[in-house]
Amino acid sequence: MGVNKSIPDKKGCMLCPRECMADRAHGETGYCGMPMELTVARAALHFWEEPCITGKGGSGTVFFSGCTLRCVFCQNFEIAAGTAGKRICPERLTEIFWELKEQGAENINLVTAGHFLPLVIPALSAAKARGLEIPIVYNTSGYEKADVLQQLNGLVDIWLPDYKYRDSVLAKRLSHCADYPKRAEIALTEMVRQAGKPVFDSRGMMKKGVIVRHLVLPGCVGDSKDVLDYLHDTWGEQIWISILSQYTPLPHVRDDPHLNRRVTDAEYGEVVDYACFLGMKQVYIQEGGCAGESFIPAFDYTGV
Ligand code: SF4
Repeated sequence: MGVNKSIPDKKGCMLCPRECMADRAHGETGYCGMPMELTVARAALHFWEEPCITGKGGSGTVFFSGCTLRCVFCQNFEIAAGTAGKRICPERLTEIFWELKEQGAENINLVTAGHFLPLVIPALSAAKARGLEIPIVYNTSGYEKADVLQQLNGLVDIWLPDYKYRDSVLAKRLSHCADYPKRAEIALTEMVRQAGKPVFDSRGMMKKGVIVRHLVLPGCVGDSKDVLDYLHDTWGEQIWISILSQYTPLPHVRDDPHLNRRVTDAEYGEVVDYACFLGMKQVYIQEGGCAGESFIPAFDYTGV
């Protein structure tokens, strides 16, 4: 695999669109809050992904610490802020992939791994070289650089990006990056290029493809509709879309008048109705009762 200029070198880290230039190899941290040392908060079977990812065995999910977005409403606050996580070496990560497979995982699901890719890629390559055959899922906020994602070509089977906002003002207010809509669009283009059309097996499990997630936020139905317009008009049946109702206001947004409540049934229903109006067919929606802290896994270093 060729060395890419986005990989941190002595000039500093340019792995994600923040391009902080932090010297992470020598312990400096940038916006994501992580030096270049693999830091993992949980590695376990997870049963709350989309049905074609969870299956019967569960998704073998590895939660990496730190985050390049750090949204004000973050649902995984402990790991995004880097306060939870255990340092491991790439060889241990390869072992974790195998342990999850032996527990019956349907796939390996890398959650927010982008800022560790120079270490994750060798771990993944070693696991594949030893015969790991289950699909690899890349689960991301969508705030990625296409040239970095190109290094995952042939290693990732299923792309699971968010598309959070269409409105750059909203993106700036909630995720501190006005360029999110454009960056996520470019990243999604690269993901679809690599994945091709969605492929499922006889059990309905996805083997290859892209599922774009959109979390409906309180008071943001208009932007959710704009997101669906964009995804439908641009990608049609090349992708699946998962419309999430599970937004949970955690204690750190208690004083935010916009974010301190759940999404109402009426708000979520309006977004789902709009997807129907557009004629979208490849859509996952959530049943009622999905919002709640119990939905958020314990970041207690299980499996690490
Ligand atoms: S991965 Fe982290 S340090 Fe590197 S550019 Fe992104 S936020 Fe900055």
